[in-house]
Amino acid sequence: MSQSKDHRFGTKAIHAGVMPDPATGAIMTPIYQTSTYVQSAPGVHKGFEYSRSQNPTRQALERSIAALENAEYGFCFGSGLAAIDAILKTLKPGDEVISTNDLYGGSYRIFTRIFEDFGIHFHFINMSDIEVLEKHITDKTKLIWVETPTNPMMNIIDISGAAKIAKAHNVLLCVDNTFSTPYLQNPLNLGADVVMHSVTKYIAGHSDVVMGALATSNKDLAEKIGFIQNASGAVPGPQDCFLVLRGIKTLHIRMQRHCENGSTIANFLKTHPKVDKVFWPGFKEHPNHQIASQQMHDYGGMISFSLKENTAGAATEVLKKFELFTLAESLGGVESLSGHPATMTHASIPKAERDKVGLSDSLIRLSVGIEDVEDLILDLKQALA
Ligand SMILES: *Cc1c(COP(=O)(O)O)cnc(C)c1O
Repeated sequence: MSQSKDHRFGTKAIHAGVMPDPATGAIMTPIYQTSTYVQSAPGVHKGFEYSRSQNPTRQALERSIAALENAEYGFCFGSGLAAIDAILKTLKPGDEVISTNDLYGGSYRIFTRIFEDFGIHFHFINMSDIEVLEKHITDKTKLIWVETPTNPMMNIIDISGAAKIAKAHNVLLCVDNTFSTPYLQNPLNLGADVVMHSVTKYIAGHSDVVMGALATSNKDLAEKIGFIQNASGAVPGPQDCFLVLRGIKTLHIRMQRHCENGSTIANFLKTHPKVDKVFWPGFKEHPNHQIASQQMHDYGGMISFSLKENTAGAATEVLKKFELFTLAESLGGVESLSGHPATMTHASIPKAERDKVGLSDSLIRLSVGIEDVEDLILDLKQALA
């Protein structure tokens, strides 16, 4: 690894983990499209045996992501959900997990539809007031799962507060940092044990790759994750790793613009007569703004809003009229996207659960891209007209 952890974020985004290719001097890490590596005698090799276990392109990316999260160890997976799957496989039947109740739909699905069947029990609680977490911890609790900002309600969870409670009870804390990215928030610095990313979103940043990652400085946990990564085998291919390495080089610049555009759009929506509520942690009146300003460097480009006419039909009318805010699942790419959580990303969460967290039928989620913000505002104006 050529660069130290002491560099600032933008320098790390460009340099950390990558070094000129030892074979040719190529500045950019090559796509090592190989499944296996020559051994000069049985067991004698250059540290690479088989590409499920190690691949140089993936290794450069894993080191880069670890550096961005100020972690000792990084691991990449074939998707964000494969990364979640790997963390859950460190648990045993009978173990309990406490999770935020306002959560990515796919995380809720893998928890309740896959791992419940293997005897792991999940509790979904409102962590807006972090002290309530303590009441739910039992001697079976092994993992606390936090997503912040939450998806799609943009609630903020106090990571340091959760870490203190986790440490006091010897429970691991994992933070899904997909929405914030390491540019906005570094959970390990706040006391978390492991960070998870859907790399698919901001880290890759161009809506052309599906990938996940974990980062930790806990050596025991890293050994378990590394074992599972190889033993279960949900690894990404070298071509995708190359694309993500390329995406990361502009992560800080993209995030700056996502934040600027996000702020302008959140403030525009707030004054629009057809809009009911706007959910964005940068507002002073956001219930957890104080914590957001402590644990995040800025507020990001994810915004949800509800309409005064609170029906799915009213939301559909707006979504159909968008020209730039393309209607699609996913988020975090350079282009702006829109979504309807109740019928798209969060359809796998029962309506009763959605209502509990305030995910109303008219709620629209925006992933604000890095286009010229004047054009984005014009698009919102015509769609809401
Ligand atoms: C997309 C997403 C995931 C799942 O990641 P995939 O790469 O789609 O498997 C997990 N958490 C959050 C917050 C996400 O947005």
